Amino acid sequence: MPELPEVTVISEDVAALAKDREVLRAAVFRPDVTNVEPEEFTRRLVGRRLRGTGRRGKIMALDFGDVVGIVHLVISGRVLRLDEWTEPDRMNTAILEFDNGLVLAFTRLWLGYFDLYEPGAEEKHPLISRLGPDPFSEAFTPEYLTEAFRRKASIKSLLLDQSVVAGLGNIYVDEVLFTAGVHPARKANTLSAQKIQKVHAATRDILGRAIELRGTTFDSYHDAFGETGKYQHELKVFTRAGEPCPKCGTLIEKSRVAGRGTHVCPACQPL
Ligand SMILES: [Zn+2]
Repeated sequence: MPELPEVTVISEDVAALAKDREVLRAAVFRPDVTNVEPEEFTRRLVGRRLRGTGRRGKIMALDFGDVVGIVHLVISGRVLRLDEWTEPDRMNTAILEFDNGLVLAFTRLWLGYFDLYEPGAEEKHPLISRLGPDPFSEAFTPEYLTEAFRRKASIKSLLLDQSVVAGLGNIYVDEVLFTAGVHPARKANTLSAQKIQKVHAATRDILGRAIELRGTTFDSYHDAFGETGKYQHELKVFTRAGEPCPKCGTLIEKSRVAGRGTHVCPACQPL
């Protein structure tokens, strides 16, 4: 599932391809792809120009002026360029055609969605209204994390919780905690101030580097130009179970923490 770096890259790509372009055609495959009737989806987007794109956590926001599109790519959802307009289908679940000939397909939105909102109303979207601070925002400080970590929950479950910090998912949480030398199952309220500093710094460093490398291609992620990311080559523990730790040589172990497959160096990340 695309996390903060991948959604950043996709939303910047969509802006690079379609900003200031007018929507000529728009359609969704089925009513469950969006929060409005399929005819209304078409009517509200056709004739609008894309003013810009943004990101809220792992959710992409498309600004069409009087309409805001909120796109959540879940699991293997992607944004693809098609050669020409085609009617949406089970794979290409929502399609937009712009006046420069660009046709963008938002794929596999059965679990995600492409919802339409009045400007400002998207803040009430259930997944947006409860988002915690963005890792690159001023509100995301070691002091903020210290407060957020005053709980007995595992550090991994808190970092995955979008109301604590917006945008992290399973890949980057494992990488952040390895870099910080913190075991994912560690109770958050037992972390030292120094470890919290490290978690904070590693979060920004790793996400920033992953954006530079245009994301991680683990299963199906590609950017809107159809290219894979490059950050998978820099993953230290994620998907590396059984391989030597890049810091100490101990074999990376895989277990389950917070209900998710979790990758740990037992020597660098003691519980
Ligand atoms: Zn190690």
